[in-house]
Order: sequence, then C-alpha cells, then structure tokens
Amino acid sequence: MVDVYERLASRCDYPLHLGLTEAGMGMKGQVASAAALSILLAKGIGDTIRVSLTPKPNGDRTEEVLVAQQILQSLGLRSFAPQVTACPGCGRTTSTFFQHMAEDIQTYIREQMPVWRQTHPGVETMHVAVMGCVVNGPGESKHANLGISLPGTFEEPKAPVYVDGRLFTTLKGEHIVQEFLGILEEYVARTYPAASTAGALTGAGASVTT
Ligand code: SF4
Repeated sequence: MVDVYERLASRCDYPLHLGLTEAGMGMKGQVASAAALSILLAKGIGDTIRVSLTPKPNGDRTEEVLVAQQILQSLGLRSFAPQVTACPGCGRTTSTFFQHMAEDIQTYIREQMPVWRQTHPGVETMHVAVMGCVVNGPGESKHANLGISLPGTFEEPKAPVYVDGRLFTTLKGEHIVQEFLGILEEYVARTYPAASTAGALTGAGASVTT
C-alpha cells in the first residue's frame, strides 16, 4: 500500500484516499492501519483516509472512525477531541489512583464532547495531563492546558494542578477528581467561549478528511 501510494503521488496531482484493506481485527488492525497511514501522511501524501477493521460479531463501525481520528490527531494534522495524557506509571508510584483518574477524565470528556463541540468550539485542541507522581508529573503538566500530578510512593498526599503552564492550586483529600473536573469545566467555559456561529460537523461514514 505504501509503495503504491508513493508511486501514485509522484505521478499525479489527484486527491488520494488512503486505506489499508483487510487490516484485521482489534489491536492488530489498529496498529497496522496506524503504521501504514502514518508513513504516508508524514510525507504529505493523502487527502482523506479510511480505517477498515474486522468488527466483532454484531459489532459496529464506530471503532474505525475513532481510530482514523486518533491517527490524524496523533500526527498533529487535525483535532477531534481533547487529549488526555497519562503517564505509564513506574517504581515511583504503587497507586493505581492516577490510572482510574485518567480513565474518569477521559470518560467525562467523551461524554461532554457532543455538547462541547457545539457550545465550546476549539475545545477539541485541549490537552490534559494526569501524572502519577510529583517528581516528574509537573514537567508534563506544564506542557498541557491542564495538568495534575498525584502523589507517588512516600510523597505528601497532595496533588499540584497546573493551568496553562503555571501552578494553579494544590488539591488534597477525598474529592480530588471532582474538584479537578470543576477546574476543567471552568477552564473550558473560559478558554473556549461560545461562538455565535458554531460550525456543525458533518458525518462522512468511516472516511475522515485530513
Ligand atoms: S510521572 Fe512519575 S509515576 Fe509517572 S512514569 Fe513518570 S516518574 Fe513514573
């Protein structure tokens, strides 16, 4: 596929629709599609893309669109939804709290997006970091729009929150997740104000424009 599209691109100026046919099921298909499409997109080849995954029995096609969108967003070509960066965890933390928190925030953002997309245009470019310790967490947090670093092993039970690169507050106690989501909501309302003519997105099946 890569070879064919590279040769096509060198010989014509037609818009090219990229896709890896018969990519397969689940992770194998997702990784194979990402690998093939990324090589071409990084060279500036491709105008639209599709992802073809073999669905589970009775599964739907939503996964194909989400994978295609994530490929484009990961390459910095187009944003579709706020991104949550979470550290992988290491010997500095024995807690799984940051993993649950990252998942809760990801779920919250996903549930808000149908509304935010209409009410807060631009929110799809937001970047949130959820880190597992206060040794290395603040560094990543400073590069995100919002970042929180949870206490790692033997660290004080407090979680510094950075907003646009600056220390905003330090959270403590039982309600860190809810309080952080409150800060997130305020940030979205303040940073991505409602536009008078918010553009409506149009569906295009499993194809995604780059
Ligand atoms: S942020 Fe802290 S806990 Fe997470 S991977 Fe980095 S050093 Fe480990």
